[in-house]
Amino acid sequence: MLEVKNLSVHLGDFALRDINIKVEKGEYFVLAGPSGSGKSILLESIAGIYRHQCSGTVHLDGADISHEPLRQRRIGLVFQDNTLFPHLTVRRNIEFSLRLNINNDRDVKSKLSELSGRFLLDDLLHRSVTTLSGGEIQRVLLARTLASDPKIILLDEPLTGVDSLQKDLLKRHLRALHRSGLTILHVTHDFDEAYSLADRMAVMHQGRLLHTAAPEAMLSRPADKFIARFCGHKNFFQAQAFNGERLVLENKIELKLKNDLLRQSLVSTLIDARKINYSKLKPSTGDNIFEGKILDVFRSPLGQELLIDIGIPISVIIDESLSHPSSQQIDKAVWIEIPQEAVKLINRV
Ligand code: ADP
Ligand code: MG
Repeated sequence: MLEVKNLSVHLGDFALRDINIKVEKGEYFVLAGPSGSGKSILLESIAGIYRHQCSGTVHLDGADISHEPLRQRRIGLVFQDNTLFPHLTVRRNIEFSLRLNINNDRDVKSKLSELSGRFLLDDLLHRSVTTLSGGEIQRVLLARTLASDPKIILLDEPLTGVDSLQKDLLKRHLRALHRSGLTILHVTHDFDEAYSLADRMAVMHQGRLLHTAAPEAMLSRPADKFIARFCGHKNFFQAQAFNGERLVLENKIELKLKNDLLRQSLVSTLIDARKINYSKLKPSTGDNIFEGKILDVFRSPLGQELLIDIGIPISVIIDESLSHPSSQQIDKAVWIEIPQEAVKLINRV
């Protein structure tokens, strides 16, 4: 559907380098990366804004659109900044976009009513856009963008600056758009946002696309340390492997593992906090069981997070339903078991 091939863009000191992306028809694809990684420039390049500074190609439904200006691309771009016309009402903003394609008043009216119903804007149509909240602005921007009948919509940080209740509502709108068959390319700096919306996602860093995968695979099998950090992992350790069956973390903690990858002697290791088993009582049997003390307890989106000192500090995520955080006492002796599947070897970046 959308295919970006070997796209490079040079703007002042910044460069996007050799970007390749394929977004399938009807797919919800999220481009994620920290601030300054080049996400907005990439989205704007796909829309045709930097076409004179670009090399590489952009194809939409098989047609090469690399040399077409934004207006002719059938791409709906919602910029990171609010680009509504401030002197017009909500109704006039949407109508403006409808009239670019439709010249019959009756059709404009019926399309406006459809979009207004879809994005719950009926009570806002008469309002000046300068009086809208962040979430309302995004809904009007979505309606105005769909009014131009695009083949794909590109959304630049659509949930940033929107409060949490409005965020849930907007996410529902985005999922409904996705279910209706629309192809969506969404940009965000927030991994959790990507995780909750994407069919597939790519992570960007310093103008390059590092890796593309389904969100769960990105989190469970991060391709390198940068991606692991971006996904929220915290347990990174330098380790030494012995005979493919022992791994010593930070010269302190010895794990028994069966893993052919452990033939290399020095490795960078990630331990998935979600996969560590936790117990307040000493387990009677098993390998890789360590006694530790709780240093900190707090709630995180994935569950209850404990920081436990087992000779090295290690984060452990437990099922929130098991107990209340205050029942996990700081300085109390507890046990953890590190199963083989929690341990991953990663490349360093
Ligand atoms: P992101 O959207 O990932 O936060 P941007 O794509 O906005 O990042 O910008 C990436 C980098 O390029 C930033 O360092 C930014 O300052 C720089 N930049 C953005 N636009 C331009 C431009 N028109 N000319 C030169 N540099 C730019
Ligand atoms: Mg940006």
